[in-house]
Amino acid sequence: MNQGNHVLDRARVALGDDFLRAAVRFTADRLRTKKYTATESLGRWEEWRSRGQQIRAHTVAHLDYYLGQFADNVTRAGGNVQFAADASEASQMVLDIIRAKQARSVVKSKSMVSEEIGINHVLEAADVEVVETDLGEYIVQLAKETPSHIIIPAIHKNRQQIKDLFTEAGGENLTTDTKTLAGFARRTMRKKFLEADVGITGCNFGIAESGSVVLFTNEGNADMVTNLPQTHIVLMGMERLLPTFADLEVMANLLPRSATGQNITTYMSVLTGPRREGDHDGAREMHIIVLDNGRSNQLADAKMKEVLNCIRCGACLNVCPVYRQIGGHAYGSVYPGPIGAVLSPVLNQGEQYADLPYASSLCGACSEACPVKIPIHDMLVYLRQRNVERGWVKPAERAAFKGFAFAFAKVGRYKLAMRTARIGQGPLVRDGHIEAKIGPLRGWTEGRNAPALAQQSFREMWGLLEQELKTTSRESGRTGK
Ligand code: SF4
Repeated sequence: MNQGNHVLDRARVALGDDFLRAAVRFTADRLRTKKYTATESLGRWEEWRSRGQQIRAHTVAHLDYYLGQFADNVTRAGGNVQFAADASEASQMVLDIIRAKQARSVVKSKSMVSEEIGINHVLEAADVEVVETDLGEYIVQLAKETPSHIIIPAIHKNRQQIKDLFTEAGGENLTTDTKTLAGFARRTMRKKFLEADVGITGCNFGIAESGSVVLFTNEGNADMVTNLPQTHIVLMGMERLLPTFADLEVMANLLPRSATGQNITTYMSVLTGPRREGDHDGAREMHIIVLDNGRSNQLADAKMKEVLNCIRCGACLNVCPVYRQIGGHAYGSVYPGPIGAVLSPVLNQGEQYADLPYASSLCGACSEACPVKIPIHDMLVYLRQRNVERGWVKPAERAAFKGFAFAFAKVGRYKLAMRTARIGQGPLVRDGHIEAKIGPLRGWTEGRNAPALAQQSFREMWGLLEQELKTTSRESGRTGK
């Protein structure tokens, strides 16, 4: 684990940013409230969740079969499928397609997998212009940042900051008016859409029975990205499959409601292969790159397998008491929040994210919010346990727990430890609570009430009571009462 750049250090920086905290809380609250309204209006939400869980679990359990079926059907529809073992292989595949097309400009619609493999940097290094066309992604691209929320990438930005970014990018003197800012983005992107040689998208779901790629957007930008350039590249995590269109119906109900509180997404595009004879639009080539990058390793891990059920709705972020305070960048991974804390450590090069499972209060709100019932908090505990087994803990923490185990293994040691602690706590107790200003206890007592150890333990009180009862009964016997 990289101790020098720990999530705690980054969290401290985020906690000092009042604007960030207020902005994240405001949007997360809005999304959460809208989600409750949308799920209420649908009715029988728990049944929908259970159905979603069943579909995802079934798909992941038979992933090899459905991947084969999907690839066959894509090929039959005229598309091309490649499987990438890791991020660098996937990036190379994208580069090869772009070079073969002698492409100089790329437009992209929102894709977390593209963030995962860092494709923008790879393409820019190869002198290819890349433009994000989702408004939030476009803002973070101009700011040279990564998304700070899975669904709302620019959740941490206000209108003034966006105006400054757009003004600098366009050389125009803009105002903070929403219509003005959206108008600037629309004008800029229209030109880029028309010029682009290649369009890159992610994939919300791949449908195995037809080889279709399904994209959910609210801005319609994915339709431009997939229809105007002559070549379309899809970046898809290997788990993002559904067996049939009937399964898509369930996900089309679960995902928008959980993500943005909408009853249905504004645009749902279903693409089956490239443009065919007689079609009026569409890319002439469609390449699908299916990324593993550590995912298949989870299939054999009973405790982590369900992480592959995730449909990237972001609902767990909106309810997480940690995410709501520190935002996404403090996680240091492209996947923030509770899902990021379990997904990032298990993808390739996950060692650098081994600290993320500690960025949780283990309250379980994430698991309750998850539309496909992923037990995220159990996974967080499991990953912490795995860190200990791998020796990825601070020496002081290891020594403290060894001492704890030693003292609690025998009654005599336990009693002695309690007596010593009762005496030792003296200088730290204020108004019945422990207040540690320094040392490892500080972090705990700074934000919580840690009651001082009672002067008498329950065992001692019980012992005295037993003694008293015995004495009373002896005396009663003597007096014959
Ligand atoms: S873990 Fe569940 S709640 Fe979180 S993003 Fe994935 S599907 Fe949504």
